[in-house]
Amino acid sequence: MSFEMESRSCNEQFARVVVAVFLSRLDPTVEELDDVKTAVSEAVTNCIIHGYAGEDGIIRVEAAIDGRTATVRVIDHGVGIEDVKKAMEPMYTSRPEEERSGMGFSFMEAFMDELSVESAPGKGTVVTMKKTFGRTES
Ligand code: ATP
Ligand code: MG
Repeated sequence: MSFEMESRSCNEQFARVVVAVFLSRLDPTVEELDDVKTAVSEAVTNCIIHGYAGEDGIIRVEAAIDGRTATVRVIDHGVGIEDVKKAMEPMYTSRPEEERSGMGFSFMEAFMDELSVESAPGKGTVVTMKKTFGRTES
């Protein structure tokens, strides 16, 4: 499943709901679904605020299911990230003056099982997240 949308903050809600509905066939718990929604929100918000810096741009969202594992990818063609390792550090933000806490990537890492970030300055950013559902089934 994939879709593209404009980089407007009103689309963040749309993206997380679409991904949640797509993943509902995995019969996720409310908590699992909340985790994915939070991660998608953080990734999409980053595209809007950092990638396109409030300007118009296209955000692509892809989601796939393989067995009980979901892969979600959030892609922008914005400014990109110079130092991905540093950007992913907890509490690092390039916009401290805007009361950003620098915890977006940390949340994505905490709420999903895997997180990888590929980025190139001037080209854009691809955030790939994976989560396996139903781990604690009794
Ligand atoms: P918070 O998410 O807590 O509001 P934040 O967005 O600054 O703050 P992170 O989401 O962890 O924190 O991102 C860390 C930094 O990585 C950002 O400050 C920004 O510099 C960079 N970054 C993240 N996503 C992108 C993106 N899609 N394009 C360009 N830069 C990005
Ligand atoms: Mg963020």
